[in-house]
Amino acid sequence: MRYTDIAIIGGGLAGSTAAAMLGRAGIPAILIDPRPVYPPDFRVEKLSGHMQIERFRKTGIAEAVLRAASHETENWIARYGYLLDRKPVVQYGILYDALVNAIRTEIPAGTEQLFAKAVSISTSAERQRVLLSNDEEISARLVVLANGLNVGLRQTLGIERRIVSRCHSISLGFDMVPVGRPAFDFPALTYFSERPDDLTPYISLFPVGKTMRANLFVYREIDDPWLQRMRRAPEETLNATLPRLSRITGAFRIGGDIKVRPADLSVSAGFLQPGVVLVGDAFETTCPVTGTGTDKVFTDVERLCNVHIPNWLATDGMDAGKIAAFYDDPVKKACDEWSAAKAHHFRSVSIDKGLYWRAQRVARFVVWLGEGLLRRLLHSRTAAGGNASRFSIIRSRTAP
Ligand SMILES: Cc1cc2nc3c(=O)[nH]c(=O)nc-3n(C[C@H](O)[C@H](O)[C@H](O)COP(=O)(O)OP(=O)(O)OC[C@H]3O[C@@H](n4cnc5c(N)ncnc54)[C@H](O)[C@@H]3O)c2cc1C
Repeated sequence: MRYTDIAIIGGGLAGSTAAAMLGRAGIPAILIDPRPVYPPDFRVEKLSGHMQIERFRKTGIAEAVLRAASHETENWIARYGYLLDRKPVVQYGILYDALVNAIRTEIPAGTEQLFAKAVSISTSAERQRVLLSNDEEISARLVVLANGLNVGLRQTLGIERRIVSRCHSISLGFDMVPVGRPAFDFPALTYFSERPDDLTPYISLFPVGKTMRANLFVYREIDDPWLQRMRRAPEETLNATLPRLSRITGAFRIGGDIKVRPADLSVSAGFLQPGVVLVGDAFETTCPVTGTGTDKVFTDVERLCNVHIPNWLATDGMDAGKIAAFYDDPVKKACDEWSAAKAHHFRSVSIDKGLYWRAQRVARFVVWLGEGLLRRLLHSRTAAGGNASRFSIIRSRTAP
């Protein structure tokens, strides 16, 4: 039997970040995951936006981890074949395995990592017992369940996964390669759908190392023949879905494997129990279209490790009253609610045909156009024409 304060089950984004934070805070913890090296897995491939990066920074490991990512400062926004804006952004492209493995290198040597599966947990208001697949046993004051979509262990504790929206969206990941020239004109690009019937909220292109990575999102059923067509004839199918995309990208081909991943929106029920706390996808999933999954992971782990665990360990016991403080944390609740609302809003504003949503689409287009025009105006005033002429090139190429 090994004794520790915190047993973290699952070494993905949430569990590895928690292990790094607790280790750095000098809190005894053990990280349990079957694999010493996180394998290739299609998940988040880009961290972006000031808010998301700020959330990551609060974990204390962002600077070191982001050195392994491709930093980008400008993202082009386009729709209907028109470039609307060249938006300054803070964006880091990195494949999921590279991200998780970079985080794992931030786990201090004193924090033990066990490469096995947790096969059962028994909990109480005092100590928790975790049995591993290699027959080792751990006794901990708290179990952090960060085991993602694997529901088996949670079910043994009576925690249920409820699907709020089945196959809410499907994500596709692949490489895009320019044809007939060495590089694309844009540093990064978000191209929004042209019509609600496209069932495609947007495609995002961003560099990861020397590769231009594409994340394409669709609101389709998993048995939609469109997915077969996308696998069989990817360039043709993408061009048919977003006919004016190539006005911005120029000719392209799709390289490598096409990863396809449906995502359900799910929540947990019966999670408030003594001795165990759920974080990241284990607690609740969101829609990849919104790009808020990592906001939720970083918020969960930061609040848990910076605020709640130090408070809980300061007194005896680990009853449900203590654990409730995490689920009731206003910062966590606000992040979860924001992310869930965004999942439904994004879908409606992309594909709903009602008058309200049509008006929303027009309003969004006008806002992007206005922002882009304003930025161009300011640039051309301050930066002596260089940026303005680069805009004109795109406009002439994209003219209908
Ligand atoms: C296709 C896709 C695209 C996405 N795109 C974005 C995006 O653009 N932006 C964004 O913010 N979010 C995005 N997300 C969401 C984001 O990737 C997830 O929210 C995040 O990866 C969840 O991390 P996690 O640590 O909770 O789970 P995971 O990374 O799944 O980690 C779970 C870990 O638990 C381990 N495990 C499971 N069972 C056991 C066991 N019994 N014992 C021990 N270990 C166990 C597994 O081996 C794994 O290492 C996307 C998700 C998907 C699926």
